[in-house]
Amino acid sequence: MMQENMTPIDGLSAETLFRGKGLTYDDFIVLPGYIDFQASEVDLETQVTRNIRIKRPLVSSPMDTVTEWKMASTLALLGGIGIVHYNNSVDSQVEHVRKVKRFENGFILDPVVLGPNHTVLDVDNIKLEHGFSGIPITEDGTLGSKLVGIVTNRDIDFEKDRTRTLAEVMTTDLVTADEGVTLRGANKILKQSKKGKLPVVDGEFRLVALLSRRDLLKNKDFPYSSKSEGKQLLVGAAVSTRTEDRERVEALVGAGVDIILVDSAQGYSVFQIDMLKFIKQNFPSVDVIAGNVVTVDQARALIDAGADSLRVGMGPGSICITQTMMAVGRPQASAVYHCAKYAREFGVPVIADGGIQGIGHIAKALSIGAGAVMAGYLLAGTSESPGDYFYENGMRVKRYRGMASVEAMDAGGGKRYLSEDNKVIVPQGVSGTVLDRGSLIDYVPYLMKGLQQSFQDMGFCDTASLGEALYSGKMRFEHRTAAAQAEGTVHSLHSYSPPKFGRIQIDGF
Ligand code: GDP
Ligand code: GDP
Ligand code: 5GP
Repeated sequence: MMQENMTPIDGLSAETLFRGKGLTYDDFIVLPGYIDFQASEVDLETQVTRNIRIKRPLVSSPMDTVTEWKMASTLALLGGIGIVHYNNSVDSQVEHVRKVKRFENGFILDPVVLGPNHTVLDVDNIKLEHGFSGIPITEDGTLGSKLVGIVTNRDIDFEKDRTRTLAEVMTTDLVTADEGVTLRGANKILKQSKKGKLPVVDGEFRLVALLSRRDLLKNKDFPYSSKSEGKQLLVGAAVSTRTEDRERVEALVGAGVDIILVDSAQGYSVFQIDMLKFIKQNFPSVDVIAGNVVTVDQARALIDAGADSLRVGMGPGSICITQTMMAVGRPQASAVYHCAKYAREFGVPVIADGGIQGIGHIAKALSIGAGAVMAGYLLAGTSESPGDYFYENGMRVKRYRGMASVEAMDAGGGKRYLSEDNKVIVPQGVSGTVLDRGSLIDYVPYLMKGLQQSFQDMGFCDTASLGEALYSGKMRFEHRTAAAQAEGTVHSLHSYSPPKFGRIQIDGF
């Protein structure tokens, strides 16, 4: 909000800023506003699709190194939403969606399980790899099979012969909880039993989940979580524009998905429009994110076809080489501003997709009209993204790849790029690594605290007042020259310690 009676005389309105030139986030800066509230009071709640509001404007990208059930459920707990990728079979994607919908804070729904014929050495290896050693033992060593015992540290600590089978060392007299138990109920049993683990079983004593005493102690509240009325976490899933994916849509809707994202690098096509119409006609209760678009004409076509949200971006992604390879795209800030301004008239929010390097970029995307940002790079190195950490030149990293990289296309990911056959592959993305960022549980609150502080500096206590000021011209901007950009980041020092969470605070500015 702007101080009463103050006429802005400085800087540019967004309309003037974006006239003519193709700009991206680093090309402009927001001029400060008037502060009469605390940063903690800033309300970041936003519209991510026509009918869905979330408390944190963060969406994870449908990429196979970013979003599967773990990313989607943790991000939803923290107030954002994840879009599960489709570089997999329909069954596998549906299972990820189901897991998010079934997810209950505190329950381990995919515990590592062994069978009676495994050995103590197998537990040692799990301890080495995952760091825990409380292992439920089932008849055939898989989740969903009959629970026969449990092995924990205490059963094997002093065992000299590591080749002994678990059948010989496991505890078989078990305290269990029945499927359907609430977190509170399960915690009560854990407290009474004084055990470290609580297996949850169905009516036939088949293992369905596990609870850990350690989690009971650190169980947090997630006040911002994105939930539907049924109290389940919200989740989205991506599909391609191909006709065969109509079955995928049906299966995903059957699994309770809240949002379908029609994934295409260039969304202005007859294929996208047909898919969009198919979904809206057959599953009107599911919101559809369509895209990608970067021009008003593209936005118009998809809104006309029924889009409930637009995904904006062509070429800004960290792993993306589309603009270089195809000569088509648009600088991201211009794309977001023009599409958002148009879509707003129809009550359709836009999601700024790609090129988000840190808090500053999230703030800028929102400052020019985005309802939320979609991130790949930003979330790829967290412990909730798919894939294992490994070491590269002494740094702990995870793999992160574009869905149009040769590697991802080999695995089936070329579906968003309208290639007709796979004989000649022209990649539009690369495959690489990103640094370990730790868990989303620490990282997302950090990003959002930073975003609240940024809103405070801009002088807005919520997304609605920001939107009003943007379109009325009250909000002021300025271009940044190359020298201004250099001035705006660390310079002149002989050396310095990068801030927490690595480089992102700096290059995301
Ligand atoms: P343990 O006694 O060695 O199993 O370890 P703790 O119970 O002290 O800690 C295990 C931590 O790992 C808890 O926070 C669990 O939620 C977490 N965890 C994640 N997946 C699993 C799993 O498959 N099995 C077990 N036992 N713990 C898991
Ligand atoms: P730790 O403290 O991490 O070693 O693990 P626990 O407190 O879970 O286990 C201590 C002992 O209790 C071990 O011998 C376990 O096999 C056993 N134990 C673990 N869970 C159960 C259970 O549900 N019922 C019974 N009776 N014993 C259990
Ligand atoms: P990031 O957050 O890493 O900067 O960008 C992620 C976004 O890049 C994705 O949401 C998607 O829109 C886009 N993307 C993903 N894979 C590729 C790819 O291989 N090529 C291109 N051109 N864009 C990609």
